[in-house]
Amino acid sequence: MSGKDELVFCPLGGVGEIGMNFALYGFGPASHRQWMIVDCGVTFPDLTLPGVDLVLPDTRYIESQLDRVVGMVITHAHEDHYGALLDIWPKLKVPVWMTPFAAGLLQAKREGEAGAPKIPVTIYKAGETFDVGPFRIEAVPVTHSIPEPVSLAITTPLGTVVHTGDWKLDPRPEIGPLTDEARFKALGDAGVIAMMCDSTNALRTGESPPEQAVGEGLRSVIMAAEGRVAVTTFSSNVGRIRSIAEAARDCGRQVLVMGRSLQRVIDVAGELGYLQDLPPFLAEVDYGYIPRENVVVLCTGSQGEPRAALAKLARDEFKHVALTAGDLVVFSSRTIPGNEKAILEIKNNLIDRGIKVLEDTDALVHVSGHPRQAELKRMYEWVRPKVLVPVHGEAAHLVGQGNFALANGVAKVVQARNGDMVRLAPGEAGVITKVPFGRVFKDGRLIGNEDQIGVRDRRKLSFAGHVVLNLIIDERYELIDDPDLVAIGLPEKDRAGELLEDLMLDAAIGAVDSIPRGRRKDLDLVTEAVRRAVRAAANEAWGKKPIVTVFVTR
Ligand SMILES: [Zn+2]
Ligand SMILES: [Zn+2]
Repeated sequence: MSGKDELVFCPLGGVGEIGMNFALYGFGPASHRQWMIVDCGVTFPDLTLPGVDLVLPDTRYIESQLDRVVGMVITHAHEDHYGALLDIWPKLKVPVWMTPFAAGLLQAKREGEAGAPKIPVTIYKAGETFDVGPFRIEAVPVTHSIPEPVSLAITTPLGTVVHTGDWKLDPRPEIGPLTDEARFKALGDAGVIAMMCDSTNALRTGESPPEQAVGEGLRSVIMAAEGRVAVTTFSSNVGRIRSIAEAARDCGRQVLVMGRSLQRVIDVAGELGYLQDLPPFLAEVDYGYIPRENVVVLCTGSQGEPRAALAKLARDEFKHVALTAGDLVVFSSRTIPGNEKAILEIKNNLIDRGIKVLEDTDALVHVSGHPRQAELKRMYEWVRPKVLVPVHGEAAHLVGQGNFALANGVAKVVQARNGDMVRLAPGEAGVITKVPFGRVFKDGRLIGNEDQIGVRDRRKLSFAGHVVLNLIIDERYELIDDPDLVAIGLPEKDRAGELLEDLMLDAAIGAVDSIPRGRRKDLDLVTEAVRRAVRAAANEAWGKKPIVTVFVTR
């Protein structure tokens, strides 16, 4: 097989999880494939990664064959598809293709990050066809929840595959064209060997409501409101920003924008003409002059981010802008799993202050940008892929879509996970091997794995603290004075009221005493004995073992 051309698909992120999308398409003989990367996304860390800023895909597999990487194509500018570019690109330095909106957002982001690399970008537009090495790419317009999303039809001498990217079938989007049914059907007519397809909403029946219906929902909510209205949403959802601005205008209200990422998106979208025919957006300082029934505050922070505008509004921390009892906060968003607690805290803060809270379970104020089952079924009927590979989902979503596809006319499903290399052609499609994959972490200015950035220890420190002891021994191997001890993050006293520091000091002294003087020459032995004794003492008093560091000098 080694001399024969093959077409393979190999995800290094985004399959078995929602987030961190990073896929490889390879063409050529197994020994020297040419690679194209599709998307370069991040995941956001949870509480198990204290101090970590971003989670990135581990790209060492592709770094080992950089001379055969022909380029990277970004399907759209959501963080889970392009958010790792500034951090990963310097390791790859490959040509990048993206749409005007994605390129504009990347540039704005780069300007906000000191030392960020300047990435040479080739712009493509939805509907265009271009070549990336041996891959002919057609960017087919789809609807989603951000401007300019595309599916990629990828053609090689072995046939055409479709990488759907994130999509839905929205008959009434707020901005941009409809999903290009005619092109998908034409691709299906010409023959598609495989489709890598969005699984996010594969467990949900029916179809998702159109974005314009959300606009109508927002309008009736704002119309019925008496005081100020604040609306929070995902910053990159320009269609939603338009819906909110139009609803506000129709209700005789002006829109005030709060939050840097929203402002950035509005600037980029404005330049590209996505916000035409709307009244101008106002800034924070204008707030005081507007009567409360004439304002809509559009703010960041829908995921409970503690430093975002909504959290600050909830804590009443702004100089010029405040909400008071009788005002309304609308969550035009969904809760991303993991953020429930932070969001709940904000809601409770608001409710405690008499501010009303409304979310997507109360009214149609949000809709997902991913296909539900009825939409998936139509896409299968248009494209008629010989093989379906579910992607963009956790195991439940991937298996859910797989079963749904088999029950709806797709002959074969290949279940892959991150690191699986799937041969799509020639011959029967299936997983042929596993390549290295994983996650790395962005921590301040540095990037590394768990051990390299110390997050494992940090996690331990966060629940059991740290104790440092310094012991000095004289020529006769007796302790000079009591050891010095510093305990960070430990309880002060045990249940009997004894100071933990005293208990640990006694244990340290006892440990030295218990070693016959002749053996105390071995300072490593003394160090280890003291460390163990102090950990045991803490465990006895507290029920937990802190990290203990011991220095013994003579
Ligand atoms: Zn997306
Ligand atoms: Zn996505």
